[in-house]
Amino acid sequence: MLLSEVTTLRLGGPAEQVIEAVDEASLIDAVREADRAGRPVLLVGGGSNLVVADSGFAGTVVLVRTRGVEVSADACSGATVTVAAGESWDDFVRHAVDHDWAGVEALAGIPGSVGATVIQNVGAYGQEVADTIVSARTWDRREERVRTLMFDDLAFGYRHSRLKDEPDRYVVLTVTFQLRFAAGVGEPVRYAELAARLGVDVGERAPLGAVRETVLALRRGKGMVLDPQDYDTWSAGSFFTNPVLSAAEARRLPAEAPRFPQPDGRVKTSAAWLISHAGFAKGYRRGGVGLSTKHVLALTNRGNGTTAELLDLAREVRDGVDGRFGVRLVNEPVIVGARL
Ligand SMILES: Cc1cc2nc3c(=O)[nH]c(=O)nc-3n(C[C@H](O)[C@H](O)[C@H](O)COP(=O)(O)OP(=O)(O)OC[C@H]3O[C@@H](n4cnc5c(N)ncnc54)[C@H](O)[C@@H]3O)c2cc1C
Repeated sequence: MLLSEVTTLRLGGPAEQVIEAVDEASLIDAVREADRAGRPVLLVGGGSNLVVADSGFAGTVVLVRTRGVEVSADACSGATVTVAAGESWDDFVRHAVDHDWAGVEALAGIPGSVGATVIQNVGAYGQEVADTIVSARTWDRREERVRTLMFDDLAFGYRHSRLKDEPDRYVVLTVTFQLRFAAGVGEPVRYAELAARLGVDVGERAPLGAVRETVLALRRGKGMVLDPQDYDTWSAGSFFTNPVLSAAEARRLPAEAPRFPQPDGRVKTSAAWLISHAGFAKGYRRGGVGLSTKHVLALTNRGNGTTAELLDLAREVRDGVDGRFGVRLVNEPVIVGARL
């Protein structure tokens, strides 16, 4: 099997061995056997945050296809819901909204699996999974045992968690969320563009279903909902995280650059703004790859690209921004078998 068949970029060469794990026992077995044999393991959920080398992966690829949603407490205040790692994230968001549970409605349309959302604390439109995650049950590959990591253990940050720091240690088996009983209204809207589209002020609440639908519409306009017919969505989403700068670094940016003060005194700026003001326009092409025609932050395969070309484009953009603004962009997707 080619990894291009299971990544949203549709890039990546052959896998030496592929195991599809449809239940938890086979997921653990597949990883444990490979670990004991000293074979490298690549876990793949939806393949939407993965950039795999053209040479492929010399080891065992484990496709995480476990299923199940369990409600362990459903009181008038809310629900505690445990979801198998292989469940589709976007299906879970729809399930939550259908059950009138609030807390993940602004995360509609994000591709991939529930398990992987923990890795980089997936977020969008003012919400992130850390807002609602209680714990993640994992297979600890180092200690060869099932281990539950509680919220504090997960050490969530902006597009970050402890699991990102220890990439070859934990296999996420299930994730437990605490969701509020919504009585029809979502969590306070924290993102200005979403609030404006919903006709509310930032901090106000809007109907739960309307939040989900509006987020999906906004995302579609930016090529951020998967569509096989649209090369702008043959991506890994945003390729670079928004840089978080020291106050001194932020002062060196041009006056018109976006600045979002953080609680710790640092300042977040916009990677998209830096890229477009460093001279890279939407649709900028380089061979078979290019920036999305809808959003400069998505690096896309235009149908006949290679991973080598994509990484060359990523370097060109990163170095262009560095040269113009002295800010080093950091990639968001996980790169396997190659370096940026
Ligand atoms: C069009 C598009 C839009 C996107 N929009 C957003 C967005 O708005 N916000 C955002 O945060 N992200 C976004 N992303 C990125 C991506 O969807 C998320 O990071 C998603 O959580 C990845 O899930 P996945 O199952 O596809 O992970 P994969 O790509 O399959 O894997 C990603 C990493 O997680 C590891 N992994 C996968 N499953 C497990 C598991 N069960 N246990 C341990 N490790 C595991 C993999 O080995 C790999 O290192 C977008 C991507 C695309 C293509």
